[in-house]
Amino acid sequence: MMTSYAQDIITGLSSLLTGMKVTIKTMFTKGHTVQWPRQTAQLPLNFRGHIRLVANDSTGFAKCIACGSCVRACPSNCIEVKGEKPEGAKKKSPTLFRLDFTKCSLCGLCVESCPVAAITFSRDYALAGLTSEPFAAMNLLDEVASPFAGEEQ
Ligand code: SF4
Ligand code: SF4
Repeated sequence: MMTSYAQDIITGLSSLLTGMKVTIKTMFTKGHTVQWPRQTAQLPLNFRGHIRLVANDSTGFAKCIACGSCVRACPSNCIEVKGEKPEGAKKKSPTLFRLDFTKCSLCGLCVESCPVAAITFSRDYALAGLTSEPFAAMNLLDEVASPFAGEEQ
């Protein structure tokens, strides 16, 4: 009959071999980390970065009509929108579209609530800063053309 001491040795060796097997397998498996910024990450198709405004293909202006639906849908109160009608236009355009990304949970309710599909998720994963201030008031109008260019808001 095997002593409990011998059994402990066999169990220990078996455990050691199992651990070594995992270690050796990992050594020859391609890693998931990248040496950013020298390398860029391969993002999954459904990756969610901060929200951004979608531009109209022909004008370059934001598709947003400043209806405020996303503001009301956001559970974290991260979005602030103001808008006006450009001269001769039937619908409003945003004069301010500000995101507090420090509070955003990337839940997507704003994207889903927009009646004109004017918001999407960016694929920007490399946001970094020494303070959170720049991310607490992101001006999303920076990325789109404005029908109010040249006018004082
Ligand atoms: S993704 Fe969610 S939390 Fe973030 S701004 Fe949109 S509604 Fe708010
Ligand atoms: S829901 Fe869409 S159209 Fe309405 S304010 Fe938000 S982004 Fe603009």
